[in-house]
Amino acid sequence: MNQVDYLRISLIDRCNFRCQYCMPEGAELDYILQQQLLSYEELLTLIEEVFIPVGFTRFRLTGGEPLLRPRVVELVGAIASLPQTQDLSMTTNGFLLARLAQDLYNAGLRRINISLDSLDPEIFEQIIGNRGRSRWEQVWQGIQAAYQVGFNPLKLNVVVIPGVNDHEILDLAALSINREWHVRFIEFMPIGNSDLFGDRGWVASEELRQRIRSRWGLTESQIRGNGPADVFKIPGAKGTLGFISQMSECFCDRCNRMRLSADGWLRPCLLNETGQIDLKTALRNGVKPAELRERVRELLNIKPEINFKQRHSGTTGVYTRTMSQIGG
Ligand code: SAM
Ligand code: SF4
Repeated sequence: MNQVDYLRISLIDRCNFRCQYCMPEGAELDYILQQQLLSYEELLTLIEEVFIPVGFTRFRLTGGEPLLRPRVVELVGAIASLPQTQDLSMTTNGFLLARLAQDLYNAGLRRINISLDSLDPEIFEQIIGNRGRSRWEQVWQGIQAAYQVGFNPLKLNVVVIPGVNDHEILDLAALSINREWHVRFIEFMPIGNSDLFGDRGWVASEELRQRIRSRWGLTESQIRGNGPADVFKIPGAKGTLGFISQMSECFCDRCNRMRLSADGWLRPCLLNETGQIDLKTALRNGVKPAELRERVRELLNIKPEINFKQRHSGTTGVYTRTMSQIGG
C-alpha cells in the first residue's frame, strides 16, 4: 500500500486567468466567501496538530491561483520552518511570480510548477481567456525570475488540448534541452469545461512521446519524480519530460496524496468525494485536534478502497467541479 504523505492545499478558489479547460470566461462559479476560507491560523493548526501527526510531511500550495492569496509569502515561511516539513512546493500560473519569486524563495519555497500551455502569446491568450492584453510576456518573465532565483526543480505544466496547442509539443519539449527545466505534459481531463472536452477530446501521452521520439529520441530518466508523472529525457538534455496520463493510464494504485480545499474540505481523491471531511467547520465548532486526527486516520484507512473504485470506474465521466474549485 502506498504511503499517503502528500497534501495538496488550495489557498483560494479564485484566479486571475480564465483557462478554457478550467474556469472558462462566462462560467458561473460559486466562489468561496472570504469568511469561509480557512484562515492561515486554522490552516497552520491543521498542518501542525492534525496532518503532520498522522504522517503528512510534504505539502503543495495551489488553487485557484495561490499567489492571489494575501500574505502568501508569510504562510510559505511558516510551513517551511516547521521541522517536520520535508517538502514544500507550489503550483502557479506564474503571472505574479516575477514580483514574488525572490520573496518566496527567501521564505523557504524551493520547488515550483508553473503552467505554460503555449509559447505563442496569441494562443496563450486564447487559452487563458483573452482580455485584450498580453499576459504571456509577464508569465515568461515569472518563469525566468524563478529560474534565476534558483528554484530547483522548476517544472512547466502543459495541458495538451487537441487543435489548440498540440502542434507546439516539440517546441515546448525543447525547453528541457538547454536548461534544467522539467516540462510536463498533462492529458486534458473532462473536469471543468465539458463543452471544450466534448469538442476536442484529449491526446494520449504515448502519442506525444512518439512525436518527440521521432525528432530527438527519448530515454527513461534516472531522475524520477514521486508523483504521477512518467519521466523521460531527450538524450543529452539538461531537464526532463514528464507525462501525466490520467486519461490513458490509471495511476490510482500509486496515489500518495489527499487534497484540502480552500474552505477546509479534505478530499481523498481528485475525482471522488467519498468520505470527505469538513475540517474547517469541525475546527470552528471546537472539535479537538485529537478527534480530527482520528477522522483523518479513518479517511486514510478507506482511501485504498476509494482508489480501487475510482480505478475501476475510470475517468470517463464529466466532472462538474473545476480544478480551481477542488485545488488542482
Ligand atoms: N492556477 C495554478 C495553475 O494554473 O498552475 C494552480 C491551480 S491549477 C487548477 C493546477 C493545474 O491543474 C494546472 O497545471 C492546470 O493546468 C491543471 N488543470 C486545470 N484544469 C485541468 C483539466 N481540465 N485537465 C487537466 N489539467 C487541468
Ligand atoms: Fe486559473 Fe490555474 Fe485554472 Fe488556469 S488552470 S484558470 S490559471 S486555476
